[in-house]
Amino acid sequence: MGLVEMKGILQKAEQGQYGVGAFSVANMEMVLGAIQAAEELRSPLIIQIAEVRLSYSPLHLIGPMMVEAAREATVPVAVHFDHGLTREKIKQALDIGFTSVMFDGSHFPLKENIKRTKQIVELVKPFGATVEAEIGQVGGSEDGTVDTEVSLTDIEEAKQFAMETQVDALAIAIGNAHGIYKGKPCLQLDHLEAIHEQVDLPLVLHGGSGIDPHDFKKCIQHGIRKINVATATFNQVIHQVNKETPYRDYFSHHRDVIMATTENVKHHIKIFGSDYKV
Ligand SMILES: [Zn+2]
Repeated sequence: MGLVEMKGILQKAEQGQYGVGAFSVANMEMVLGAIQAAEELRSPLIIQIAEVRLSYSPLHLIGPMMVEAAREATVPVAVHFDHGLTREKIKQALDIGFTSVMFDGSHFPLKENIKRTKQIVELVKPFGATVEAEIGQVGGSEDGTVDTEVSLTDIEEAKQFAMETQVDALAIAIGNAHGIYKGKPCLQLDHLEAIHEQVDLPLVLHGGSGIDPHDFKKCIQHGIRKINVATATFNQVIHQVNKETPYRDYFSHHRDVIMATTENVKHHIKIFGSDYKV
């Protein structure tokens, strides 16, 4: 157990027909909280950080901590670099020991996305890590600064992309969005079903904060194996911390961040059905 490649986690999820949460972490407390949740529920786990968050949590500091925490876990944990934008940072994550990276070229035209993704697949090969890529346009942006329009993944393009790039997992756009949904999320489940029939890869759902449990389960039925959850954790932490203000001592705050993260991660693990799978 401990640190594992993401590919293996997703293959097992495919066999068992469940989903695995990929939880964004920003500090040590969240790393500890997420791993505690997975250990309590005997679930595989993915912890991740996106390139746009590195101005808050420098990769050379948080990266080794994530990897070391995964190594010591009693359940399988993959450490994933989310929304990699630059070759330099993706390489740094691999050197630190991340077992999975995402390259997000979804804003490029198909041909350019394929070309750039293939270059990352080549870069990753010697490390034996997993590669996730994205096609179609997920709404919003990882850090909430850009309000990207949703544009559904084209099925033919997804097929071509999967075949030509040989990536291990594919993030798709079916009406999902990053951050907080403006209205009730309206996922195009028929479209997901069609992608799943045509593309033989574990599918990834970004923007998992705010989707209701019923829709999560439908997505999992139609081939979603990795589900990214970021905002829900951060909001749960803020909620918990606000409840306790003012704090009498710093370490109560520290404990509350861990506890809020554990609660949120456990909540999602149960919905995704990855509990008691290890
Ligand atoms: Zn994302």
